[in-house]
Amino acid sequence: MTHKAHRAAQAGLFPVGNVEIPVLPTIHATTVLFPDTRALAPLDRDSLSRSGGSPYDNFYYGGVGTPTTEAFSRTVAGLEGGTHAVLAPSGQSALVATLSALLKQGDHVLIVDTVTYTTRWYIDQCLAPSGVTVTYYPPEVTDIGPYLRPNTRVVFMESPGSLTFEVQDVPAICRTARHHKAVTVLDNTWAASHCFEPFSHGADISVLSLTKYHAAPAGVSLGAVVTRDEGLHGTIKNQAALLGLHVCPEACSRAALALATLELRLRHQEKTVRHVLEGLAGHPALHALFHPSLPDALGHEQWRRDFTGTNSLLSLSFQGLDRATVLARVDRFRVIRIGYGWGGNLSLVTVFEANEWRTVSRTQARGTCLRIYLGLEEPAELLADLRQALEGPTRDAPRTHP
Ligand SMILES: *Cc1c(COP(=O)(O)O)cnc(C)c1O
Repeated sequence: MTHKAHRAAQAGLFPVGNVEIPVLPTIHATTVLFPDTRALAPLDRDSLSRSGGSPYDNFYYGGVGTPTTEAFSRTVAGLEGGTHAVLAPSGQSALVATLSALLKQGDHVLIVDTVTYTTRWYIDQCLAPSGVTVTYYPPEVTDIGPYLRPNTRVVFMESPGSLTFEVQDVPAICRTARHHKAVTVLDNTWAASHCFEPFSHGADISVLSLTKYHAAPAGVSLGAVVTRDEGLHGTIKNQAALLGLHVCPEACSRAALALATLELRLRHQEKTVRHVLEGLAGHPALHALFHPSLPDALGHEQWRRDFTGTNSLLSLSFQGLDRATVLARVDRFRVIRIGYGWGGNLSLVTVFEANEWRTVSRTQARGTCLRIYLGLEEPAELLADLRQALEGPTRDAPRTHP
């Protein structure tokens, strides 16, 4: 098997005649011209749901696929350990295509309580009102048996969970779901096609926001639904076409450049997150640190068992500081910038309230918390910035803007 770094470095490979070029070309095409009616591809469910064996195979209408998007989807599928990928303009649209393809009125779905808030918005505001029954379950549940109903069609996981990174027992959940003939869908964005193999741990479908580590350095929004099951792939590809989830070839070309350095970036960032976690351990301003590698993290055992590494997100909560004081500390960051949209070059901080988005479970975090994304800067520089910000203003050094 090709090593991950090697695979990522090949992200742009593209056949032209009988040679290859290493930079994915942008082929913009909405119309494709055919020599005669015999060559004209039929527009039906079969053609909508097919993926080509070569980038040129399913090239008959640019909305459904171009050689650029076909080549890029095969790269993403390979990096994630799958055989097929459906691309979408965002992680959110990939998620909507998946759940709306698999669920209809009268069905039941299990959703982990620690899903990203945008996933929850779709489920609560679109899926539930359309007649799908939704049950949220706590992230620490390993036996989903008691939650299953005769009409449970889908079990949805996000592991580690949003904001406080609880690691689920994906293999155990998938085994029970499979026995029940429910489809398992995992939001595997956290692992960045780097440190968790969804299919060897039993998941049927991996949904990815490529907008994060995969493509954030290029500043583009993309998503993907990866599987090893041709039937599921066909169903979701068809749904993506019905929903009009056309993907811009330019975004794919730009994302392929970012993808080539994915492993390299994450290896640096793994060292950074270790350095920062060690440096912050026992810090008097902190009530708790959240990262799956910490021994007291919820699901730490599963992380050790199932993951081969980590990404560079961590969260923290303070020892009894009110929101205004926390915000004043955040305003002291100088290297780490304030903003959303992690996965790119720059380190970022955002603010959240503990348990803000949870309904059936609680985290240990309390009050106003920070989520820190560690980017490509020097680990020591990032730790120093965190320390000076967390310590708060002192009498000797009144707060000044640079
Ligand atoms: C960002 C994110 C999404 C949504 O992806 P977009 O590309 O921003 O639409 C979904 N799941 C997870 C875990 C994410 O981090």
